[in-house]
Amino acid sequence: MSTKKRNWKPQTALVHGGTLRSGFGETSEAMYLTQGYVYQTAQAAEARFKGEEPGFIYSRYANPTVDMFEKRMCALEGAEDARATASGMAAVTAALLCSVKAGDHIVAARALFGSCRWVVETLAPRYGIEATLVDGTEIANWEKAVRPNTKLFFLESPTNPTLEVVDIAAVASLANSIGARLVVDNVFATPLQQKPLQLGAHIVVYSATKHIDGQGRCLGGVILSDKKWIDENLHDYFRHTGPSLSPFNAWTLLKGLETLPLRVRQQTESAGRIADFLAGQPQIARVIYPGRADHPQADIVKKQMSGGSTLICLDVKGGKPAAFALQNALDIVLISNNLGDAKSLITHPATTTHKNLSDEARAELGIGPGTLRLSVGLEDTDDLLEDIAQALKAAK
Ligand SMILES: *Cc1c(COP(=O)(O)O)cnc(C)c1O
Repeated sequence: MSTKKRNWKPQTALVHGGTLRSGFGETSEAMYLTQGYVYQTAQAAEARFKGEEPGFIYSRYANPTVDMFEKRMCALEGAEDARATASGMAAVTAALLCSVKAGDHIVAARALFGSCRWVVETLAPRYGIEATLVDGTEIANWEKAVRPNTKLFFLESPTNPTLEVVDIAAVASLANSIGARLVVDNVFATPLQQKPLQLGAHIVVYSATKHIDGQGRCLGGVILSDKKWIDENLHDYFRHTGPSLSPFNAWTLLKGLETLPLRVRQQTESAGRIADFLAGQPQIARVIYPGRADHPQADIVKKQMSGGSTLICLDVKGGKPAAFALQNALDIVLISNNLGDAKSLITHPATTTHKNLSDEARAELGIGPGTLRLSVGLEDTDDLLEDIAQALKAAK
C-alpha cells in the first residue's frame, strides 16, 4: 500500500487505514502470529538493533498486525502516533505512569471506571504520586485542586455508569495554562462521537475491548498522542514492561474497526429510542442519556459530542429489589458488566462494577441501589423495546 497521506473520511480509513499488504497480495489483513523476526546476516541484525535499518525485532516491541491496528487508530483519531496494549487498563496505567514521577500531583474526576480509580487513588500514592479526586462537572473544582506540582489531569467523559459529561476543552485549557497534560479515557463516547485531541487533550486512551471489538471477543487497549510524547515518555516503558497487544487480538480489533461506524450508529439510534421510552415509564425515577435534552450537562454534550452514546443510565423506583427484578425479567438483554457489545447488556453497578466503593462514594457519584447501566446492542430496536416493556410489567 502506498504510504502517501490520504484525506480519507473515517469510514474509509477504518476499512483501509494502516494496511500493510504482504507479497501474497491478500485482501484481508494478515495475522502475523510470530514472536521474533529473522535477519539475513549478522550485520543486518546489528543494523536493526542500532536503528539504522527499519524492521521488526521482537513482538514485545512491535509486530506487523499490531502496527496495522495502531496506524488505523491514528487515522481515525487524527493522532500522530499510538501504542496498542493488552487491555484498556494497561493503556490507562501506561498513560498515567508515563506522565508523572514521584513528587508530582494528579487531579482526576472522581467519576472513573473502578480500576482507573484504583490506579489513581491507591497505586499512584505508593510511588509518591499524590492525587486529588474532584467532581469533574464544574471547572472551578479542577482549578481549586491545582497545586504547584500538578502535572496531570485525568478524566472520563461520559462517565461510567452515570454518564456525567466533563467539559474537555475547559480542562485542557486549564492544563495548558499550568504546563500539565490531560489524559482522556474516551471509551463511552467512542472515537466517532468525541475527538478529545481536537478539544485540546494531550493523550487519549481506549479500552478496545468495548466498541472497537464490539463483539465481545477479546481484550485490548490503545494510547494515542503526539509522536514526541510517545517517543520521549512511552516508548521505553512500553518496550521494557511488556503491556503489548497479542497479534491475534490486534487482528480481531482491526476487523472490528471496519464495522465500527455502522455498529455505533445503529446502537446509538436504538439507545436514543430506548432512553425516550424509559423516561416515560412510571417505574423509572430517572433516565440519564447524553442524547436527551434533559441530560444534566446537555450544553456541554452539544459542544463536544456528535452522538448520544450507546449507553443509558437509569434509576428504578424501589431500589435494589426492583432493579434486580427488572434485570431478572429481561429475556434478550443479558446481565453482564461488559459494554459496547453486539449483545445488549445490563448491570447493577452498586453490586458489581462499583461494589468496592463506600456507600458514601457511590452516593457522590449518583449510583443508588436502583441504578442500572444498559449497554445497547445490535438487536432489532423493536424487539429490545418489547423486551424491556415486558420486563417492567413482570417486575412490577
Ligand atoms: C472497560 C473500561 C476500561 C478498562 O478496559 P479493559 O479492556 O477492561 O482493561 C477503562 N475505562 C473505561 C471507561 C472502561 O469502560
